[in-house]
Formats: sequence, C-alpha cells, structure tokens
Amino acid sequence: MDKSSRIYIAGHRGLVGSALLRKLRSERYENLVLRTSGELDLREQAAVREFFRTERPEYVFLAAARVGGIHANNSFPAQFIYENLMIEANIIHSSYLSGVKKLLFLGSSCIYPKFAPQPIKENSLLEGKLEPTNQAYAIAKIAGIEMCRSYNTQYGTGYISLMPTNLYGPEDNFDLENAHVLPALIRKFVEAGRENRPDVTVWGTGSPMREFLYVDDLADASLFLMKNYSGSGPVNIGTGRDISIRDLALMVKKITGFQGGIVFDNSKPDGTPRKLLDVSLLNSMGWQAMTGLEEGIRLTYEWYMQNRPGK
Ligand code: GDP
Repeated sequence: MDKSSRIYIAGHRGLVGSALLRKLRSERYENLVLRTSGELDLREQAAVREFFRTERPEYVFLAAARVGGIHANNSFPAQFIYENLMIEANIIHSSYLSGVKKLLFLGSSCIYPKFAPQPIKENSLLEGKLEPTNQAYAIAKIAGIEMCRSYNTQYGTGYISLMPTNLYGPEDNFDLENAHVLPALIRKFVEAGRENRPDVTVWGTGSPMREFLYVDDLADASLFLMKNYSGSGPVNIGTGRDISIRDLALMVKKITGFQGGIVFDNSKPDGTPRKLLDVSLLNSMGWQAMTGLEEGIRLTYEWYMQNRPGK
C-alpha cells in the first residue's frame, strides 16, 4: 500500500472509520474513497457492486457496521444480524469480484464464548456458547471472519480480520439507552453535574470486567496490520488490561468532576462477566497500545464537551 493507492474506508463517519480517516490523512494517503450511508447504502447488493465496479478501490478497511451497547444489542437483534451480514457479504464479495488487493475486516471481542478462558486467545473462537445479550451481532461478525478465511482459501485473496476489544473515543455514540458503557457514563456524569443531581445510576452490579482501547490506537494497529500481517486467522487488538465497571465509573466521575454518589441498578443486565483479550500475538509482531485509559477518557470527555448536541 503506498501513498497514492486507492483506499476505501467503509463507515468513515463512525467511531472506528473516523479514526482510520484521521490516521490515513495524517500519514498523507492521498487517494481515499469515501461514501456516506446516504450516498451508498451498504445493505444494497446492486449498489455496492456498482460502487466497486466504478471506483475500483485497491485496499478496503471494512469499518461499517450496526453497533451498540448491551441494551441496543438485546433489543434490536434482528437489525444487528441482518444489517451486519448484508454489509459484510456485499463488501467482501464485491471486493473479490473487483480484484481488491487487501481487505481488513473489523470484528469484535464479543465473538468469543461467554466463558472463554481469560485472557482470551484467538483460538477460543467457536469453542463454546456465546453471551446471549449480543449473540445476533456476534454471529454476524463470526460470519465475516469466516468469509475472509474462506475467500483466502478458495480464491487466494488477502483478507485479514481484527478483533478489537471495547472501543471508545471521539465520534462515539453518546445515546443514553443505546451507547456502550463508556460514552454513556461520560454523558450521565456530565448531565448529573450540570443538573446538580445527587447521584448517577450505573447499570448492573458494577462487577463485570471490561477492557477498553482508545480508538486512535486501533486505527494505528489497523494500518500496522494492513502493512505487516497476511494470515487468515483473527488478530486480537487490545491493551491487555481490564477494569471493573465500578472502577470505571469512579474514574469517569473523577474526570468529569461530579461530586455526587453512584447507584447500581441491578435490574439491568451485567452481560458477560469478563472479556479480556490475550494480545500476545499482536505484541509479538511489534505493536502495543499507547493511550492509557485515564488519558483516553479525558480526551473523549473533552471531545464530548466540545461536540455534544447543543454546543
Ligand atoms: P458489553 O461489553 O457488550 O456488555 O456492552 P456495554 O458497553 O453496553 O456494557 C458493558 C457493561 O457496562 C455491562 O455490564 C453494562 O451493564 C455496564 N453498564 C453500566 N452502566 C451502563 C450504561 O449506562 N450503559 C451501558 N451500555 N452499559 C452500562
């Protein structure tokens, strides 16, 4: 991949795609192909085929997906499985038909079994039952990994799969119901502070453990692997460290300066008890995460304060 290669970022307005765009622009890749979802509906097979036939991208970052937190996954499983299957199938098959040189597919750590041994190695895939709250999404993402592997085997393509841990950063979804935990907590603490409320409600028991990766680090890892990795097996991307939801809430409270208390709502699901990725494969290739959790939350909080609706 050189600076003049035609590179398509699918989903460039999302959390991951916008970080990839910042990264590729900062490294002066000059031939980026971009389409908003209004311009190209990735669920529509004919439209996607026509786009690849006319635009002829050489490299593809597949960062377009229907994503959401525990409540959204639990409430809209049909949309999560249908839209993700269509997006992946359309882009991967069109990439094959139009001769894309290399494609990078982004999965998620929720593809691994609920009770996988921790930290989770890549070879835990399909070794056990999934976490029910995000099974539909996970099965769609597993299908994407299997498509990449199968096309490499049958057609000799160069499609790689990355499994990032929970991501956060600028351009995330801060919706209170449908967001992931970190953006939801930032917003909850900011609003509770502004409205002088006595406490903030955190879902579940606070005991689940999660690992968080700042999205600009993922963009860096993606470019690194696009250049340096060509295997068919998925590669975990994370920090190798996790934190309880309780401690995460305390960290967000401190960064936002909220003075009140924290209440746990046990009627909300905890989801999987722990999902820490084993990142030794990635580390052995020479890549490590750079942004500490507190620093990353601070950057995300600052972005939210500058960009939240009404600003
Ligand atoms: P998950 O990693 O797929 O479970 O997705 P989430 O990021 O949505 O949730 C992670 C954990 O944070 C779960 O145990 C949630 O119950 C917990 N959590 C606590 N408060 C919140 C909140 O306000 N929003 C979300 N989405 N999760 C929360």
